[in-house]
Amino acid sequence: MLTNSRLAYHSHDHKRCVSAALTRAKTLCNDSRVRLTPIREAVLRTIWASHRPLGAYDIVDQMTLNAASGKRILAPTVYRSIEFLLAQGLIHRIATLNAYIGCPFPGSNHSDFFLICRECGSAAECSADQLNIAVEQTAKRAHFKVESQVIEIAGLCPECQHEGTQGCPE
Ligand SMILES: [Zn+2]
Ligand SMILES: [Zn+2]
Ligand SMILES: [Zn+2]
Repeated sequence: MLTNSRLAYHSHDHKRCVSAALTRAKTLCNDSRVRLTPIREAVLRTIWASHRPLGAYDIVDQMTLNAASGKRILAPTVYRSIEFLLAQGLIHRIATLNAYIGCPFPGSNHSDFFLICRECGSAAECSADQLNIAVEQTAKRAHFKVESQVIEIAGLCPECQHEGTQGCPE
């Protein structure tokens, strides 16, 4: 079972998550012979700023804040980059939040479920073989062809279950 719940919910050196994600993205894009342009990379870096899913507007806002003054970030360019990152499997879309999150296991064949904290918004991506088998068998019995599978589970993360929480880590 793949999971990044430890990282999503506990304080850690997040810079390492970001640099690992960018290294994986570069390798993957190289292997698939697609270009991780500076803008695509900037969008990926922005999404990876934390373990909280970010909406498209927030991504544009954040990039505008980070950009050198006077430099305009064009929303359509950002949206196209999001589409690219989705297509490469580098990020996932969380439908219930209409937001995006970086995938910690791109390039590996996995179907996801997310544990999403309704308090701090952190989302942990998990993948369990038993779940995949159950979905596969159920779909097969229904003669249904599965194209994508993202299961979103809402609740409270370990930190937010305690009252007077110091807040979730970045
Ligand atoms: Zn992290
Ligand atoms: Zn993933
Ligand atoms: Zn939480």
